[in-house]
Amino acid sequence: MSFILSLDQGTTSSRAILFDSNSQIAGVGQHEFEQIFPQPGWVEHDAEKIWSTQIRSVEDALSAASASWSDVAAIGITNQRETVVMWDRETGAPLANAIVWQDRRTAEYCDQLKTEGREAWIQEKTGLLLDPYFSATKMKWLLDAHPEARELAKSDRLAFGTMDTWLAWKLSGGAAHITDVSNASRTLLMDLRSLQWDPELLDLFEIPRSALPEIVDSSGELAESSLDVTKISIPISGIAGDQQAALFGQVCYEPGMVKNTYGTGCFILMNVGETPVVSKNKLLSTVAWRVAGKTEYALEGSVFIGGALIQWLRDELKIIESASEVEALAAEVPDAGGVTIVPAFSGLGAPYWDPYARGAILGLTRGASRSHIARAALEGIAYQVADVAAVMEDDSGRTLESLQADGGASANGILMQTQADLLGVPIRCSQIAETTALGAAYLAGLAVGYWRSKEELSAAWSESARYEPSSAPAEREAKLKRWRDCVSRVRGYESGSSEA
Ligand code: ADP
Repeated sequence: MSFILSLDQGTTSSRAILFDSNSQIAGVGQHEFEQIFPQPGWVEHDAEKIWSTQIRSVEDALSAASASWSDVAAIGITNQRETVVMWDRETGAPLANAIVWQDRRTAEYCDQLKTEGREAWIQEKTGLLLDPYFSATKMKWLLDAHPEARELAKSDRLAFGTMDTWLAWKLSGGAAHITDVSNASRTLLMDLRSLQWDPELLDLFEIPRSALPEIVDSSGELAESSLDVTKISIPISGIAGDQQAALFGQVCYEPGMVKNTYGTGCFILMNVGETPVVSKNKLLSTVAWRVAGKTEYALEGSVFIGGALIQWLRDELKIIESASEVEALAAEVPDAGGVTIVPAFSGLGAPYWDPYARGAILGLTRGASRSHIARAALEGIAYQVADVAAVMEDDSGRTLESLQADGGASANGILMQTQADLLGVPIRCSQIAETTALGAAYLAGLAVGYWRSKEELSAAWSESARYEPSSAPAEREAKLKRWRDCVSRVRGYESGSSEA
């Protein structure tokens, strides 16, 4: 019996999952690591801890499956995206903590570049927006803060990497310095069409080319693990950023297919096929994957507050004791009774990108109850996803046929039914919740013949639940109109002026 080992390097924990050929989980290991907050708005990780928690998770997964390295047919890697670390190639030691995607320390620099009018040019080239989220400004910050790193770069000793690159480097014993196209497309340094590091962007951000990894396919014999690490040599044959891996694990292989992960936030991705679509609506345009020489692209929109709103009901309002209780509470009423929650706790993401918006509960009357608030919270999540889906249809010129759901909050039937009603298409929940790890396993397994084709994987996908839309288009339009009116009332709140 052999397995595919998937490394799922997340923001708060490193996980390892062994999958068998029926896509079933044979063993899991997971270890959390420290979140380092040196200043408000700064978030760092210790890259050595990322590696040590990752390898311990693998050992746990292997022992859970009563397996050893020799049972592993191939390794896939998926990872928190954009987070970046730099190290010395000669010693292998990181030169500083990794700067995490959430870190806002380069916000002013991004604003300055925007003022210089560079955003349109950068968006056209990279598909991304000028935001501290992406890796390039973090790399520049690291180089500016560590002059010794620029010195090392002069003798080709400096290495940069996102977490896929770091793990592949460690697994290969320092032999491989690679990143896959999906991860490279999040750096703000890759040309979305040539799939190469772009010399003009490298100049702008003052990043030495020699420090960057080689850009490789998402599936293929990309590297070999070192005997020192894995006892036998195993192909590292799949790499993708977490959301792209989830899109692959959800078998969204045809243009127009969409997945949404309902976690703390929501990440919505649509496969748009072999030509990138540059968004008119502030969605991100990104590489989905390159498999067998064929590159496919995705449009991406994120909602900052998804399941986090349910945590807020639990931890702050204290109207539920656990997240799963929200469904029974919401089910006590047939609708939200005119209450709308706009959960703009930290501004609004796509398509608004309004950092100054703040949350609000609107439409309260004397009869408004906890149940109405619970229901409005679930609707507030679904409305935000509907907003992203609408602009995705507009940007791509494609009509949604269904939406594939995963993530913790996709277990909520009222949320899923509301979503189906708002989108007017069926919501299909994946049988396998671990779509991110599964996607990396699929990329790795396809490359070594563990699975034969994407068609075989599509056929293996099954749904644990399906929600059909039940509301009339006119009702849907009226609800969305009310929602957008509520959104317009919270725009610009923090700056004291409404932008709507
Ligand atoms: P992440 O990977 O972002 O940590 P998960 O996919 O594990 O997220 O999902 C956890 C989130 O889902 C939490 O924010 C939680 O509040 C929410 N959640 C979990 N169960 C439910 C439920 N039954 N109904 C609504 N939200 C839920």
